[in-house]
Amino acid sequence: MRFYTINALALVVFFGLLLAGFFGDVPAWLYILFIFIWVVITAIGSFQIKWNYHLQSLNHNYKISDNHISITFDDGPNPEFTPKVLSLLKEYNAKATFFLIGKKAEKHPGIVRQIIDEGHAIGNHSYSHSKNFGFFSAEKVAAELRQTNSILKQITGKELKLFRPPFGVTNPNIKNALKRTGHFSIGWSKRSFDTTNLSEKRILGRITSNLKKGDIILLHDGSAKTVAVLEQLLLFLQLHKLQSVPVNRLLEIEAYA
Ligand SMILES: [Zn+2]
Repeated sequence: MRFYTINALALVVFFGLLLAGFFGDVPAWLYILFIFIWVVITAIGSFQIKWNYHLQSLNHNYKISDNHISITFDDGPNPEFTPKVLSLLKEYNAKATFFLIGKKAEKHPGIVRQIIDEGHAIGNHSYSHSKNFGFFSAEKVAAELRQTNSILKQITGKELKLFRPPFGVTNPNIKNALKRTGHFSIGWSKRSFDTTNLSEKRILGRITSNLKKGDIILLHDGSAKTVAVLEQLLLFLQLHKLQSVPVNRLLEIEAYA
């Protein structure tokens, strides 16, 4: 993992600095600069799922021969917007993947069943989606994943294998948890920023610029803005002969155990 390589390298440099400081003069700013660089690399590596810094996430499949991409939705099910997303997907004959939050799925089992019945895939997006997820122990992360899997097994009869880390955050604890639970970590190659206050046009532009087969798009089925962007996106895909398929199909892996 890149995390270990960087840390090993950092240790070598650190001891080098100490040794140099022992035999000669090393200015304090050099130590500070060194620590600063290490913190920045670690922070970006933890928030950029695409870097695969802590663990190997599946972020795209550019080797695919068909004109396929995957639209993925995080943070549902949402009683107001998920049904709207589903009806658009049906209208354009597109299949997507929904990474569901356990505590929301518990409240809206009917929507979860509808997602499955209409041919989409589902994945695990933790139970609480806590802001502190990145600081949870491996045990706590694993417990959240198992709890959500058990809720969704009760609703659908399926044992989920796909997991999308909340906020796309990865770290050694999440890596250890996934080793225990056996989930695949699913990232993305196209982040829409549809939960920010960017305009619909900018969001659509972020997704469609340079969009190519094998890409995985991140959206959230939680706002009217995303529903509007989705319709434009589906039109774009139709025009460019790109087909959205469930992410497990794009990645050629199993969605369920
Ligand atoms: Zn999320």
